[in-house]
Order: sequence, then C-alpha cells, then structure tokens
Amino acid sequence: MKTVETVKELRSCLRPLRDRRIGLVPTMGYLHEGHVSLIRKAREECDVVVLSVFVNPLQFGPQEDFARYPRDLERDARIAEQAGVDFLFAPPVEEMYPQQPLTKVTVSQLTDRLCGASRPGHFDGVATVVAKLFHIVEPDRAYFGMKDAQQVTVVEQMVRDLHFPVTVVPCPTVREEDGLALSSRNVYLSAEERSQATVLSAGLREVAEKVKRGEMTLASQAIDYLKRRISSKPLARIDYVDVLAFPELTPVKELTGRRVIVAVAVRFGSTRLIDNIILHEKEDLPCSAR
Ligand code: AMP
Repeated sequence: MKTVETVKELRSCLRPLRDRRIGLVPTMGYLHEGHVSLIRKAREECDVVVLSVFVNPLQFGPQEDFARYPRDLERDARIAEQAGVDFLFAPPVEEMYPQQPLTKVTVSQLTDRLCGASRPGHFDGVATVVAKLFHIVEPDRAYFGMKDAQQVTVVEQMVRDLHFPVTVVPCPTVREEDGLALSSRNVYLSAEERSQATVLSAGLREVAEKVKRGEMTLASQAIDYLKRRISSKPLARIDYVDVLAFPELTPVKELTGRRVIVAVAVRFGSTRLIDNIILHEKEDLPCSAR
C-alpha cells in the first residue's frame, strides 16, 4: 500500500492504471469494521482500491465536532493495508482547500430533510468533497455505507445530474453484536450512553418486525412508537424520527406497498448518532439501478 498526500502524486500514481477498474472508498478515517466492509467490497470488485481519509471541514457546522473528530492515521494505515487498499489518500486540509473555495455543489430537495434539516450546509460539504474526490481519483466505482442512507441518495443524485462516470455502490450497515451501528463517533460515548444507545437499532428492528407482522401500517405509528421507545432512555435527546419514501425522501403516510426509510438521529450528551432501516428492500438491487 502506498500513502499519498497530494493530488498531483495520486494522479501520477493512477495514470498508468487507467485501463484497470478503480474503486474509491471515501472516509473520514478512524477506521472501523464498517469502513473495512466497504474496502473489502471494493477489493472484490475492482483491480485498484483507493481509500481516502479526509476529515472534511466543509461538512461540519461551526458548533460541530470538526476539531475533536477522532484521528489516527497510523492506525488507519495498518487497517487499510490489511484490508487490501492499494493507495491511501490522506491529504492535509490545505491540499484539498488551498484557498477558500468559491464553488460548491448543492443537491436540492433531498437535503431539506433528516440530517440536511438539522445540519444546514452539511450535504453541500459532502457533495462538494465527493465531487472533488471523483475528479481527483476518477473511480469506476465508489463505495458508500447505508448507515448514511441520505448521503447515498444525495451522491447518486449528484452523479446522475453531473454525469460523473461512476457507479455508486451502497453497502449494508455493519453493527456491533448488540445492534449499535458502528461509527467513529461511538468513541465519544460514556459507558452509560453506550449502553442506552442500543435503543436506536432495537427500536428500528422492533418497527420492522411489527410491520412484517401487520401490526403497524402507518408512518405516524412508527414515528410515535420510536419517539416513545427512544425517550424511555433518560440520556437520549431526539433530533429527528422520520419515515420517508426511499430513495426519493418524500413524505409517506403508509409503511407498506413501497420502499421506505425509517431514520433516526439522537443525541447522547454531545454525541449525535444516526441509524436507519429500509423496509421492503430489494436486497439485490443497487440504488443506482432502480
Ligand atoms: P465516515 O468515515 O463516517 O464518513 O464514513 C465513511 C463511509 O463509511 C461512508 O460511506 C459511511 O456510510 C460508511 N460507514 C460508516 N459507518 C458504517 C457502518 N457502520 N457500516 C457500513 N458503512 C459505514
């Protein structure tokens, strides 16, 4: 594995490999098994695997955790190499943003809800940095986790709208044994918060089971159930609980008859966790093929 810090060097490394299938896994680092599952999928499907590790200041709000976001590039490099990465692209902020950028990528509508509503400007930052990475790496395939399902829909929309020659590959959420979705931010949780945080995945799973058994048919029932279930944990502060059509992210009344996302964002102390479940998922169909 080669670690590269500049755009120029990465481009010259990739130039002789342009006839191969290049896979990109964009991350903010502090790697865990969720990231590793994306790398493994890229390794299976591509000849060359590029992992980017970049904590992108543009996608953090002024009151958010950019400065204290966990970083450990040495550890990331060890994990990446073991997982089969060929190029680890870890640019400093000045390399990605040598000057204050005056250009940004905005994906409208899809970003009005869920995390877009509670984190204004977040998805502009995401779409802009992903567009930059796509231009730098020119990957054939790019791998994203469904833990950030809204991010997947936003990136897919950007790819279609701007004709990026990239296939977006959504990958399933990797969880701890007790159901908690893996996240670099889980390290912020105190023992008590960590134990109460399982309510997100447990609540979502319960909703899926109730829908399957025909006991729950309306979006409003799922929202009420989750709000009550999550609020039963004293350290949990709900940011949002919502049910939307997926991948369109438009409001729905019914939980049945079409694919929907049930999504939650909850704060434990200063840590904001998100999770979601897709109901009536056709497992074998990538988002981009719908
Ligand atoms: P991050 O470093 O948190 O920005 O995440 C980088 C990529 O890894 C994104 O596409 C995430 O959706 C994905 N990812 C993060 N956590 C998980 C997880 N638990 N399971 C699967 N993918 C994940």
